[in-house]
Amino acid sequence: MKLLEHEGKEIFEKYNIPISKRLGIVKMGEDAKFIKLPEGKCIIKAQVLAGGRGKAGGVKLAKTKDEAYEIIENMLGMEIATHQTHGKTLTVKEVLVEEAANIAREIYVSIVMDRKEAAPMIVASAEGGTSIEELAKTKPELIIKMPVDINIGLQNFQARELAFALDIPAKIFRDFTILVKNLAELFKDYDASLVEINPLIITAEEKLIALDSKIVIDDNALFRHKDLQAKEDHESSEIEKEAKKIGINYIGLDGNIGCMVNGAGLAMATLDTVKLAGGNAANFLDVGGGANVEQITKAFQIILKDEKVKAVLVNIFGGIMKCDDIANGIVQATKKIKLDVPLIVRLEGTRVKEGKQILLDSGIKIEQADSLWEAAQKAVQSI
Ligand code: GDP
Ligand code: MN
Repeated sequence: MKLLEHEGKEIFEKYNIPISKRLGIVKMGEDAKFIKLPEGKCIIKAQVLAGGRGKAGGVKLAKTKDEAYEIIENMLGMEIATHQTHGKTLTVKEVLVEEAANIAREIYVSIVMDRKEAAPMIVASAEGGTSIEELAKTKPELIIKMPVDINIGLQNFQARELAFALDIPAKIFRDFTILVKNLAELFKDYDASLVEINPLIITAEEKLIALDSKIVIDDNALFRHKDLQAKEDHESSEIEKEAKKIGINYIGLDGNIGCMVNGAGLAMATLDTVKLAGGNAANFLDVGGGANVEQITKAFQIILKDEKVKAVLVNIFGGIMKCDDIANGIVQATKKIKLDVPLIVRLEGTRVKEGKQILLDSGIKIEQADSLWEAAQKAVQSI
């Protein structure tokens, strides 16, 4: 789960990581005038889940109060495309308004889970800001990496080493070491897979401020974080949210072949095979090991909510469940929902012969396949 900048900053505050003074948040449909702004400068920031907002017009400095209100109004509802939105756009539904900071230096600090080290890894650079990706490509030697022992946390000597490497001025040297240790603690406490401050600035007044925040929480650990469970998952589509409510593991994709599979591994293999056959899956869907009629019906309903779906491919391995039970489930479910797109079914496993016969006898137009490859090809041809 990705947190919006202002949500991340609320967590930063809990960990004594300094942030700019918040002047307010305005959501779409709200009147900006309800937040009181100072006469002077302030910064207005689009709250979307993508980096690169600055370069895409999602971060704007207002010199006066009136200018600020005007910027807020224009920014709300704006469509933002950055290098991280992969050709799509994100609608700005809320903006964060903060006191503007006077930037003297921009530093990059983040912590990511590093698979090779099997540990959190601090990634930092003295040259932070909006061109960090460019820097990583052209001058990778300027990127500092330091693993953190998950049990001990970031140690003092490490924090000092990092401060030296980033050329942190003496006056705020200690503040920096405390900040980065707090950041490592936050990373662990919140089961994050990423926390990033870009830029962490040194102001003209020689103070440290986390000017931006990016936090990604491991979804599998969300049950441990009651404060986050209540939050809206900004990245999920309506269909995904609905699927989650009824306990179906569904992720929407760009294609038009709806896929119903049992088991996450088989589901991924199915997506690959569809692609190999020249098609594109509309979704990832794992109905689970013990899929019954009710679950299969729900899964069909979820898949068909996506209007892009032009065919449904069912790929189920009868292991825990027997193929004849699954076939009965498919027959009942398709009758119930009045399926009106081609249905391709590949069953394999226990009592597969009986299962296939049930599908044949049902009178429903079902294209059966003996292998996943055949099923994928038939699904692609059916469109
Ligand atoms: P991102 O582009 O999505 O990463 O958005 P950021 O929040 O990092 O903002 C982008 C850039 O806007 C920063 O690197 C800063 O240079 C600038 N910026 C953000 N906040 C302020 C501020 O309070 N004052 C000034 N002068 N610039 C800011
Ligand atoms: Mn940033």
